[in-house]
Amino acid sequence: TLAGKTAVITGSNSGIGLGIARELAKAGANVVLNSFTNLPEDHALAEGIASEFGVEARYIPADMSKGDSARQLITSAGRCDILINNAGIQHVAPVQDFPAEKWDAIIAINLSSAYHTVAAALPMMRASGWGRVINIASAHGLTASPYKSAYVAAKHGIVGFSKTIALETAEEPITCNAICPGYVLTPLVEEQIPGTMKEYGMDRETVIRDVMLARQPSKQFATTEQMGGTAVFLCSPAADQITGTTISVDGGWTAL
Ligand code: NAD
Repeated sequence: TLAGKTAVITGSNSGIGLGIARELAKAGANVVLNSFTNLPEDHALAEGIASEFGVEARYIPADMSKGDSARQLITSAGRCDILINNAGIQHVAPVQDFPAEKWDAIIAINLSSAYHTVAAALPMMRASGWGRVINIASAHGLTASPYKSAYVAAKHGIVGFSKTIALETAEEPITCNAICPGYVLTPLVEEQIPGTMKEYGMDRETVIRDVMLARQPSKQFATTEQMGGTAVFLCSPAADQITGTTISVDGGWTAL
């Protein structure tokens, strides 16, 4: 059980981050949800988790594209035993046409925010004598696809960053790892299905199987619950000696 632990999950008002927050809360952790918005429904998500799982849950707005805000999120949380760096965005374009502001935003949100949150959270973990850093990388942290230069660079970067933090904390009761999801059916991905159906003149099942899951041998999406379950495992005593590595949850993508 994670009772008494506080988990901070960046980018957790939807998708994988929310799924991880729910599984950590189910395991007993108090959770801090985050995104850059500050809407009633954001705070309602935290209230829902608190009442469903009987833990403390808060929503703290902070923009992960800004280093100061990323550090402020950890300071405002007040305690951080489990840090999940999950906030991420995507942009797809050939490198010569890739907008510089998109490149900068992807590097800032998908990579640099983790540097800032880790720098702010490690002293708290050291003070409490236990810590888990889990960075949400991607199959694109281990392999590449065309037209995703910034995303692939940021995700490979976060894998290297995770290894470095693991070495810097190796003799302490702190671990740092990266989870590498394959395709997960988050709201963001779901929204792309109708457009792709139209574009290719395919039905929903064909788009999912032959376009979206072309590189995922299981031909099934991974789920946000499975990402949460993997995070809970990395917080368990069984994972005390698992540090500086990646766990792929990708239906065989990286075995191809
Ligand atoms: P999503 O769009 O549902 O979630 C992204 C989250 O990040 C949202 O909560 C969003 O509000 C937040 N976010 C975006 N910009 C932010 C900012 N500036 N500051 C704070 N929060 C911000 O997408 P998702 O699929 O759940 O993605 C979550 C993570 O998982 C990302 O890092 C993504 O790269 C990674 N991932 C997703 C998949 C997939 O197939 N869905 C596969 C591999 C890796």
